[in-house]
Amino acid sequence: GAPLATTCAIAAAASNGVLIKRPEIVERLPAVTTVGLDKTGTLTKGEMTVLRVQGMSGSMWDETQALKLAAALEMKSAHPIAAAIVSRALGCVGTANSTDLAVAKKIRNLPGVGIQGHLTVGTGSAAKVHKVLLGNRRALDLANADADSQKEFECFQEMHRNDTTVALIIDGKLQFGLALNDTLRPEARRLIDELKDLRLRPYMLTGDSEFAAKHISAYAGLDAGHCLFSLAPEEKMEWVESENKAGRKTLMLGDGVNDATALAVATVGVAIGETGAALSAQSAAVVLLTDKLHKLSQCIIMCRYAVRIER
Ligand code: ADP
Ligand code: MG
Repeated sequence: GAPLATTCAIAAAASNGVLIKRPEIVERLPAVTTVGLDKTGTLTKGEMTVLRVQGMSGSMWDETQALKLAAALEMKSAHPIAAAIVSRALGCVGTANSTDLAVAKKIRNLPGVGIQGHLTVGTGSAAKVHKVLLGNRRALDLANADADSQKEFECFQEMHRNDTTVALIIDGKLQFGLALNDTLRPEARRLIDELKDLRLRPYMLTGDSEFAAKHISAYAGLDAGHCLFSLAPEEKMEWVESENKAGRKTLMLGDGVNDATALAVATVGVAIGETGAALSAQSAAVVLLTDKLHKLSQCIIMCRYAVRIER
């Protein structure tokens, strides 16, 4: 069995909502020197709200109808953006259920980009299939959007600098811009301060765009160069691997939506949330069952003590 100090550390961590799955993690945690923190759903609550829906020039769609298409598609996504769009659309149609949403077909989740699928509008001979794509700037590239659309979306992003922005593309044409906001978890700043006190190097890693990313990272107290944005999921993983290669042991904290691979290659992968995508929880050595993020830094301190006692 594991030494007594290790067993005690695991029990104490568990009572603070930090589930350490294997005893060797108690020894591994104090060796960590770099910490990667996912943004959406990790440093932020991941309870997003749609702030604004703006028609783009030449939009051929009624806003309510377009939002219903978007929501029908997002029903198939676990991303915090998806939940926000669904509740906004259901609010628009004034129902509390989703039965009047079309059923999306040929759905493709595009990690770090968005989601796409086919939706049928109308019935019988009037039925028409529309290709719907929701996502960030990369989605516009995927749709081969023309330069004017790219520019217009950039302007929209510029107007909502601090928010997460999403393009709604129907049948290959940019129709709407959506701006969403999220809130920092109350203990995010405390976690980062405590990590710095422990002489660890915390970074934020996100698939979101530059300004939204920098806004959150400044609030959370991260150093300017420690905000890594517009990363695809595999780039998060590559960052962890490059830290590992440089001889820095890495802890990666994520909510599991799109960061399972980064969690898997980290020295210590930590998944947050009771609901947190099961996939990431599997590839994580530690599960944070609390939204009190600073319980993680305190757990590192405790493991440092436990390791010292054993030696
Ligand atoms: P984070 O790293 O902050 O957790 P993700 O990598 O999950 O963010 O997503 C990055 C970006 O990709 C989002 O900011 C959004 O623009 C886009 N995106 C991802 N999933 C979706 C979705 N289901 N609907 C719309 N946009 C999405
Ligand atoms: Mg996330």
